[in-house]
Amino acid sequence: MVEAKVLIVGAGLGGLAIALELRRAGIDDFVILEKAADVGGVWRENTYPGAAVDVPSPYYSYAAEPNPEWPRRYSEQADILAYIHDVVDRHALRRHIVFETTVRSAAYDDATGRWHVETGDEKYDAQFFVPATGQLSIPLLPKIPGLDSFAGPAFHSAQWDHSVDLAGKTVAVIGTGASAIQIIPKIQPEVGQLLVLQRSAPYLLPRMDREYGPRQHRVFRKYPVVQRGERLFWWLFGEFWTFAVLGNPVVDRMFRATAAGMRALQIRDKTLRAKLTPDYPMGCKRVLFSSDYYPAVAAPNVRLETTGIDAITATGIRTVDGAEHAVDVLVYGTGFATQEFLDSIEIRGAGGELLSQRWADGARAYLGIAVPGFPNLLIMYGPNTNLGTGSIIYMLERQARYIRGLIEEMGRRGMATATVRADVEQGYDDDVQARLGKTAWASCVSWYQSKSGRISSNWPRNVLAYSRRTATVDLAEYEPA
Ligand code: NAP
Repeated sequence: MVEAKVLIVGAGLGGLAIALELRRAGIDDFVILEKAADVGGVWRENTYPGAAVDVPSPYYSYAAEPNPEWPRRYSEQADILAYIHDVVDRHALRRHIVFETTVRSAAYDDATGRWHVETGDEKYDAQFFVPATGQLSIPLLPKIPGLDSFAGPAFHSAQWDHSVDLAGKTVAVIGTGASAIQIIPKIQPEVGQLLVLQRSAPYLLPRMDREYGPRQHRVFRKYPVVQRGERLFWWLFGEFWTFAVLGNPVVDRMFRATAAGMRALQIRDKTLRAKLTPDYPMGCKRVLFSSDYYPAVAAPNVRLETTGIDAITATGIRTVDGAEHAVDVLVYGTGFATQEFLDSIEIRGAGGELLSQRWADGARAYLGIAVPGFPNLLIMYGPNTNLGTGSIIYMLERQARYIRGLIEEMGRRGMATATVRADVEQGYDDDVQARLGKTAWASCVSWYQSKSGRISSNWPRNVLAYSRRTATVDLAEYEPA
């Protein structure tokens, strides 16, 4: 049995954010359990061609860990993973991490007020249990008949098979979401033919990418305020854009006009442009940044298919109009199981209640962090903390700060266990859901919603509001278990 004050699950950006915050608080008694052999979470897993961040790197990084050496504004996967390694090494976090360890169950013990966590090989006993397993870690294959019948190589964007040579091949990409629109321009020059299967057209805005050369690096190193200034600029941009998602018609029109302008400039063929024009309100699904997707789709070796898929066959794809599309390689850019919050771990709270049962109608938690009846369970990147605009790292840092504050405040008051009051969580959730009902996210079906239509993924306001809401801990909102 291994004992710790805080047990964290996952060494991605969320798990590392709380580890860094605990360190700042002088709390060294924590363990991170990581299922893989390395840190990095989604940035370790997603190695598909073109994988890069769509939030500028000066903002998509820990506030206290600026990186003057970012090679570009929108950094690529390998550079982000290198940044994460660097942060881990600089803070000697590796000694806290147990790799290749999958958490199967976690149960709160009413008698001792501690969490018992099982991994198969080892048992852990901790005062606080902090799952940080993310919202985008379970690749989702579409429910299309014949999925297993395809004879050639087929893989999901998050499980890219680099042993497959795409040169000269006929490749199909199913989906046109955030991952697919990065993959398509990257593989288009290399493949023979590219078939893009689009169910809904995404909104695209220009990606104002740029390289940071040696001069820029020198400036960032010598005058950190310059990089902080750029971070502030992108933070403000995200906050401004949030107005559109929250229903401000002027800001919405501005961004729509930009998206339409880019479409008109980059796609001369009117039929193709019509196919690429979204038919739902902007912001409902994630708005994507790309300046090379439309030119790639307009290339002569690319065909955009908008007819629905009927089945996957041994040789390719059959669309509902009966047409057979023969392909050599199939790529699923079909997203992730996003509503299965913490589903991979059997979590039991006070009295043995199952979290999955509590969340049968959709996940919910106070500030995305605390669940009534689950004392000392503190979730990173939990329900309703995802963003449509802005940097998720900013949100993770706010959650880490709040969790640290709660642990410290409990320590000061000599409180060993705390569970958020049911009325506090209910009031909070009512407010979140009422606000979400007025946002663009309520106006179409997306991965932000559970089957019941409840939006369990997204935060309904700007990030400043979340920052303010989580800045201080009020222990009156909690009760001892
Ligand atoms: P996604 O945005 O959920 O896109 C999935 C795509 O697959 C959509 O176009 C969807 O169409 C389509 N699809 C799903 N099932 C289908 C089916 N049965 N038939 C046809 N099409 C189907 O997934 P993703 O691209 O992996 O991105 C997920 C999230 O990861 C993003 O929203 C973002 O938060 C994050 N991400 C970020 C970055 C970045 O920072 N650069 C990059 C990649 C991913 P519908 O729209 O019609 O459902």
